[in-house]
Amino acid sequence: MTLSDIKGTVTLNNGLEMPYLGLGVFKVQDGSEVINAIHYALDAGYRHIDTAALYGNEEGVGRAIKEYDISRDQVFVTSKVWNSEQGYESTLKAFDKSMERLGFEYLDLYLVHWPVAGKYKDTWRALEKIYQEGRVKAIGTSNFLQHHIVDLVQLANIKPMVNQVEFHPRLVQQDLIDFCKKNAIQFEAWSPFRMGEIFKVKELEAIAQRYNKTVAQLIIRWDLQKGVVTIPKSVRKERIISNADVFDFEISQEDMALIDALDRHDRIGSDPDNFNF
Ligand code: NDP
Repeated sequence: MTLSDIKGTVTLNNGLEMPYLGLGVFKVQDGSEVINAIHYALDAGYRHIDTAALYGNEEGVGRAIKEYDISRDQVFVTSKVWNSEQGYESTLKAFDKSMERLGFEYLDLYLVHWPVAGKYKDTWRALEKIYQEGRVKAIGTSNFLQHHIVDLVQLANIKPMVNQVEFHPRLVQQDLIDFCKKNAIQFEAWSPFRMGEIFKVKELEAIAQRYNKTVAQLIIRWDLQKGVVTIPKSVRKERIISNADVFDFEISQEDMALIDALDRHDRIGSDPDNFNF
């Protein structure tokens, strides 16, 4: 990943350009809260928004982009099919509903939100159909471990372009990163700040101080230097701006290794091998 600025992209395995830094909007209220957050982000130069049917704010995401003076093709938008909608026909319907709420002609990236046992292969067939019809520019998985991906691609006609999983200094999953890289599947981080909990890890402060940066900026830069697409969430203008101010410094190899060493295989979210929702 060559890092340039906030509008910089990675090229997915189908040639699509995906901005490597985006805004996450999980737990952001539909309506003015999500619209304001997206407008702060677009003002700051973000060109990538990560939502999901589950988040209940697709309508606001669509409105925020339509109301802003920017053409649709300048913003990369991800959504996801929720677990209760998985299966072939129900995923096709869920996609239509998401598109209605977003008010878009096409989506940039559609993900299988979780690897629901017995269902995710049928869900994937639906994503392949939507992709082949040109209604989405890329398709991928979320919360898939290596064995889920191996299982999926055995029958798939199209390989996932992205796998979005929990990733932060307490949960690195280097094996999964390496596997995705080897298979040209872009690794994407969710909860890069461990939902805010990462700020309790004292060692990060000393490292951030060496670069005169905040811990948040250090973590986002670490994500990007590891080749990981990242989507930090904030609803606050000053944080949205400062979280993206990460292109004027470079973390040394030694400090990258120090941050890697904070890994405790410690999830804040559910285990993809053991979830019941
Ligand atoms: P994050 O790890 O991005 O952390 C967000 C928290 O950190 C919020 O409480 C936010 O508060 C706070 N925060 C943001 N910036 C700063 C800062 N500079 N200093 C101090 N605190 C800060 O959590 P998320 O779980 O939201 O993950 C990011 C995105 O990943 C989600 O929004 C969603 O799009 C995606 N996601 C995907 C999942 C999946 O299953 N595929 C699961 C979970 C998330 P405030 O808003 O008040 O600034």
